[in-house]
Amino acid sequence: MPSGPGSAVGLDIGGTKVLAAYLGPDGAVHESLRLPTVRGPQGVVASAARAVREVLRRGGVDAADVDGVGVGVPGLVDPDDGSVTHAVNLGIEGGRFALADALSTELGGVPVRVDNDLNVAALGASHVRGGDGADLAFLALGTGLAAGIVLGGELRRGVSGAAGEIGHIPIDPQGPPCACGQRGCVEVYASGSALSARWPARHGRPAPAELFEAAAAGDPEAVRVKAEFADAVASAVRILELTVDVRHVVLGGGVSALGQPLLDAVREALDAQSSSSPFLSSLRLAERVSLAPADVPVAAVGAALVGRRKVL
Ligand SMILES: [Zn+2]
Repeated sequence: MPSGPGSAVGLDIGGTKVLAAYLGPDGAVHESLRLPTVRGPQGVVASAARAVREVLRRGGVDAADVDGVGVGVPGLVDPDDGSVTHAVNLGIEGGRFALADALSTELGGVPVRVDNDLNVAALGASHVRGGDGADLAFLALGTGLAAGIVLGGELRRGVSGAAGEIGHIPIDPQGPPCACGQRGCVEVYASGSALSARWPARHGRPAPAELFEAAAAGDPEAVRVKAEFADAVASAVRILELTVDVRHVVLGGGVSALGQPLLDAVREALDAQSSSSPFLSSLRLAERVSLAPADVPVAAVGAALVGRRKVL
């Protein structure tokens, strides 16, 4: 197993699972694994430490030989000191928790860096595309909707870390209330939760899969709900493209498990939205959209890049 300078471990810590990846000096993923997440500050540190030790053990690599550990978490993160102030899904609330320091101590002093899960996913998606430096946005369709943005090979966070929070751009002032306090936000129409609310799972499978299957079988209501969902995701893509004009918009998050049928539906909606506008048509938006690879834990890979300090 290659180790030494440039090698790192990346963790993508979600509400139910920790995905870990060991990235060698060559930038390739040599080991990866998944473990359950234990919630709460101490539980998160223990789960993370276990994932790091296990992925290194499988690779036959000593912790002292890696550059560092990078961690992506869903929440408000200060990347400068690696603290987390608000990560509801991980049971971290009510104050600043020094996650990087706590995990580093647990691992015997290995340097640890922490960033937001969308940011590391965007870095990882760019890296697995070949790290060609092309501007890219990672659009996560999960509980909410938000994007991580990589421009000129670097993350674009914004002064308050809100760059890419396009889920809270209102597209209908008369629309339903959003958890953020506004009305008719993109997230109310285009997120995984929005889809589940419109088409609750009836057969014990993920709601997106049930909706797309019912639509494929010709259920007229499912056809309508699916088209509206795809239209809303296409609006999110359009907002991203007209703001930062990225080469790639990579669809990720839970809903992207739908795979090709989701991509087809979003491309079709983009083409329909562009059909009346020579300007939009000239941007060839449908060609820029792709799916996050199903076989690579992109967020864990991006976290490893953050951990080894040398980004992309
Ligand atoms: Zn909102």
